[in-house]
Amino acid sequence: MLNGERLIERPLRWGMVGGGRTGQVGYKHRSGALRDGTYRLVCGAFDLDAERGRDFGVKLGVEANRCYATYQELIAGEARREDGVEVVSIATPNFTHYEITKACLEAGLHVICEKPLFFTVAECEEIEKLAAEKGLIVGVTYGFTGHPLVHQMAAMVKKGMLGDIRIVDMQYTHGFNSGDDVGAGEAVKWRTNPKTAGPTFVLGDIGTHLYYLSEIVLPHMKIDKLLCDRKAFIPTRAPLEDHATVLMHYDNGARGRLWVSSVNAGNMGSQRYRFVGSKASVEWSDSHPDQLIYEVQGEPNRTLHHGMPYLEEESLAADRMGALHTEGLGDSWSNIYLWIAQAIDAKNRGDEAFLKTHHYPGIKAGTEGVRWLENCVRSADAGSAWVAFK
Ligand code: NAD
Repeated sequence: MLNGERLIERPLRWGMVGGGRTGQVGYKHRSGALRDGTYRLVCGAFDLDAERGRDFGVKLGVEANRCYATYQELIAGEARREDGVEVVSIATPNFTHYEITKACLEAGLHVICEKPLFFTVAECEEIEKLAAEKGLIVGVTYGFTGHPLVHQMAAMVKKGMLGDIRIVDMQYTHGFNSGDDVGAGEAVKWRTNPKTAGPTFVLGDIGTHLYYLSEIVLPHMKIDKLLCDRKAFIPTRAPLEDHATVLMHYDNGARGRLWVSSVNAGNMGSQRYRFVGSKASVEWSDSHPDQLIYEVQGEPNRTLHHGMPYLEEESLAADRMGALHTEGLGDSWSNIYLWIAQAIDAKNRGDEAFLKTHHYPGIKAGTEGVRWLENCVRSADAGSAWVAFK
């Protein structure tokens, strides 16, 4: 169980690019990072609007002269200081991730970047090589995968409690884009333009969360082939999609079905996962992250609760609040940031043995998300044909 005790020697000097006052995801980063004393926010280029960014940064407690107008100024300004920033989080629109990550790594800074990581696998592989050469960590904020019961599902699959996995069923949907985009805010505008969003809208925006979580629960299974059907119900969003279905065949014979949509009008259910094995199934939703439905064929169904001693060690190790008390998304993000901090600390100490067994969403997780997107687009563009996964 986690209790706020610092798990690394000293707090990392941390900065943010993006995640400003009007940004959707910035606070999730700060509430995750600042929870356990593993990061200290020392600087930022928080906003495209430099003045608003400075005012915001000062109100977050950052010194005014360390609230920069651009990420380039942040890198240059911090390089001049003995106590300069060590790790930078990138919470900006997708099209900026690659260039900001590259510039930070070249300046010797660890990076924590939003998903979808970049536009292409080629970019991911180039950055993976650069990070390795520089001895730096790239973390990716798949923020939902810090929930303790996600790791319970993974441990149960690993122990064989479900039997052979046969069916994977995942859904991440909402209805916030059911209407057209007339008068839409910045976050919708950049998400629906391929120049700023990349090759996908909802597949990258929410589908990559499903895919990464399934990789954690089913690390032994790889996709052989997939079929993606995508559509823009609001035509101005084409060629990007606001709705998609993906069918997947896995190398163990399992079948997968994934649905992402931002036009599921009225839906507030968000994410749902069901992993079906030859003996039993587990089902989990981020709407009720404290509960895991465990159904064994021929037995009464069970609801497992977070923090209970009957859970697997991997799940209890990620618990913060203890049984009976609600855990939520903030706790999950804190775990993600903590696990990335431990990776950065180990890298700084040259502790490769720790890194070999330490679990955190890193550059490979980011790359695999982009690889899955590339395959989805290839299938959709071929008229929703089955394509071999590559
Ligand atoms: P947003 O448009 O709401 O906010 C973007 C923020 O970045 C704003 O503050 C903007 O001023 C700032 N910004 C833009 N360009 C900048 C630049 N060049 N330099 C400095 N600041 C800049 O976007 P959002 O919804 O917060 O999404 C940001 C990223 O986070 C996207 O990649 C998105 O996919 C991802 N995201 C992830 C999650 C998650 O759960 N992990 C949730 C939401 C968004």
